[in-house]
Amino acid sequence: MTRAIYPGSFDPVTFGHLDIIERSTKIADELIVAVLTNSAKKSLFSIDERVKMLSDLLSGHDNIRVESFGGLLVDFAKENDASFIVRGLRAVTDFEYELQISQMNRTIYSEIDTIFLTTSLEYAYLSSSIVKEVASYGGDISHFVPESIIDMIYDKLRKQRI
Ligand code: ADP
Repeated sequence: MTRAIYPGSFDPVTFGHLDIIERSTKIADELIVAVLTNSAKKSLFSIDERVKMLSDLLSGHDNIRVESFGGLLVDFAKENDASFIVRGLRAVTDFEYELQISQMNRTIYSEIDTIFLTTSLEYAYLSSSIVKEVASYGGDISHFVPESIIDMIYDKLRKQRI
């Protein structure tokens, strides 16, 4: 049985992430979506909110688990007996950083491999930051994120401004 980890900030989750998740489950028998707790980036949603958002959206899939993690990704991979890490590649700009991280991970834990899925064309431009940017100006984000989380995003941004 192959178990994969898809790590990220998911602040918030977008259709781009969900596309990678969907495609990963065709490669791995089991997928752990791992939400980063120790990101250097300041997040809009708390870790619990991000885990809940993803868990609700993915609740229909028996082979997907959503968890939070801090510390080294390779330690989390070891603890969970995962054989590979999944990352999405949108553009060349993602590549250099991703290559460096994957090589570093393999150096400290030789059992782990990283596989890269290229983004589906319709989501190539999409990022969590773009969603927050558009939403902060009251723009329509229905092309970027599932309907169930749209109001949460607007509410959160509104509260942040108060
Ligand atoms: P991180 O902060 O770790 O980059 P993100 O939540 O921004 O976390 O992204 C998690 C993963 O999903 C990364 O591998 C990223 O490249 C990928 N990803 C993000 N948006 C898209 C998208 N639109 N299409 C494909 N992959 C994406």
